[in-house]
Amino acid sequence: MADNELVLRFGTGEKEIEITLLSEQEKFGIIGVIAGKMLPGWVAIRVDELMNDDREFDVGALQKSRQCPYAVICLEPIILKGLRTGDALSLLTVFHELGHFVHGHASLRTDGSSEYDEKRKALIRQGKAQSDELEADAFAVEYLGVNIVIAGLNKLRQYMLKRYQTDAWDQEDVDLMNREIEIREKILIERDEENV
Ligand SMILES: [Zn+2]
Repeated sequence: MADNELVLRFGTGEKEIEITLLSEQEKFGIIGVIAGKMLPGWVAIRVDELMNDDREFDVGALQKSRQCPYAVICLEPIILKGLRTGDALSLLTVFHELGHFVHGHASLRTDGSSEYDEKRKALIRQGKAQSDELEADAFAVEYLGVNIVIAGLNKLRQYMLKRYQTDAWDQEDVDLMNREIEIREKILIERDEENV
């Protein structure tokens, strides 16, 4: 094993999830592994240093294919870096994607699928969010607590605003992004209050 490896543990007992980060990338850009009894299988963490503007996700994404026996969570380099220091956006990204994996949601919808995009936008305009996203957020709350998840969503908003400044700026996209994060935050707070 490479040195400087870092092991992070979340949850207890049967629900424990262990994230092992390596000091150096292995083949295929693999930099870590996530394991836990309650996961449907193990998950590799991959980081793509050469990621460019054509990439099909922001911050992180779950990839799963029939050819591959394990799932992969792809992270932006900055998100991986934050995972080592306990950054809220990094933790939210990983546990949100793990939530998609645990619930068996379809993985990596690319921007190319405009049908998916249109559905998402229509929901946001109605003040709603997709059930898959809410389930993934709820999974993250189970492991991280509502405060870290909301701090992560706030950081996501800041991060996305920065990205929009460098990419082609489309005010409608920015508004929708903001609105979607607001909806996710509002639902998390409502659920938290119900549980008190
Ligand atoms: Zn998601």
